[in-house]
Amino acid sequence: MLNRRLDGLGTTIFAEMSALAVATGAINLGQGFPDTDGPEAIREAAVQALRDGHGNQYPPGMGVPPLRAAISDHQRRFYGLDFDPDSEVLVTAGATEAIAAAMLALLEPGDEVIAFEPFYDSYAACIAMAGATRVPLTLRAPDFRPDLDALRDAVTPRTRLLLLNSPHNPTGMVLTRDELTAIAELAVERDLVVVTDEVYEHLVFDGEHIPLISLPGMRDRTVSISSAGKTFSFTGWKVGWVTASAPLVAAVRTAKQFLTYVASGPFQYAIAEALRLPDDYFTAFRDTLQAKRDLLAAGLRDAGFEVFQPQGTYFITTDIAGLGEKDAFTFCRTLPERAGVVAVPNSVFYDHPDAGRTQVRFTFCKKEKVLTEAAERLRGAFHG
Ligand code: PMP
Ligand code: GLN
Repeated sequence: MLNRRLDGLGTTIFAEMSALAVATGAINLGQGFPDTDGPEAIREAAVQALRDGHGNQYPPGMGVPPLRAAISDHQRRFYGLDFDPDSEVLVTAGATEAIAAAMLALLEPGDEVIAFEPFYDSYAACIAMAGATRVPLTLRAPDFRPDLDALRDAVTPRTRLLLLNSPHNPTGMVLTRDELTAIAELAVERDLVVVTDEVYEHLVFDGEHIPLISLPGMRDRTVSISSAGKTFSFTGWKVGWVTASAPLVAAVRTAKQFLTYVASGPFQYAIAEALRLPDDYFTAFRDTLQAKRDLLAAGLRDAGFEVFQPQGTYFITTDIAGLGEKDAFTFCRTLPERAGVVAVPNSVFYDHPDAGRTQVRFTFCKKEKVLTEAAERLRGAFHG
């Protein structure tokens, strides 16, 4: 039944592993969603918007004006970037829709898209739905730094687009200014468009988040994507956005308007307020997550996992070979039974699954006591 483009994509691993957590009652460190909702004032702003009739009917296709203004101001506040809220900002149904719309809008069948694997699972699906071909470049443990020579060599006359993610899910790698500069130079030289997935922009613990679009030559060739889900702990609200030049926004919007058309009406007003929270909110959120990273990393090490310290995101990639395990997928399927914990096998994020055969990802966006309990269970199961 299923067309050839989608054949083999299966069920998203996050849904599969969350269902396993529900079925077994295990602690869910698989799918990345916080177990504490975002700020109460922002929840109240959503309630108020509903009550006041703001966004209960179709919002404008580009997003409600207060949110577009807040996104534009956020880009100026954090990165010194100027985007015209009327033509250079587009609100989407999460980053997921922004990625899909960008792929559908910018790719011709047969075009090549270079992306670093392991990649977030929707990338493969969206590139496939656009009829394009993905060209994976492997990030390797322990540091998962990109091989910039391999990147240069991978560009062919058919390469249309680079799809980048920093901070990177699942490895937690954060691209440095030098790496971004090299990528920007290559994009300019080879006339490539770059789509950047920056949903973890406020979750950088070591280093800093530098939007590629801020580098020389990139303002008119980058589609910058982010989302409120991770920054404000409202992953269910599905408010995301694109900032880019007016022609690129117009292109992405053309596809987007036939996907959801619009979404998340009242939540758009609430996220407009969230984006205007004082700097303290962003710093405290990051510091809290950094402490949780350190807590879970220590617990995983204690339990015998090899831990690759993430510089950003809310995920830790580990290696299970030291536990005598050979296959991350089998390991994750049986982990609830063995230890009462759910995790995600990184092997599913690779086109070359051998590269991540023994890598397993745990999220640390959970309450401290949950992380401590999970770590204890793992230690009991593997090192007890
Ligand atoms: N990109 C990456 C790298 C992600 O981890 C996620 C999950 N938040 C998304 C995109 C999707 O974001 P959203 O929930 O806003 O659609
Ligand atoms: N971004 C989340 C993660 O990486 C999952 C989002 C989803 O389930 N699609 O865990």
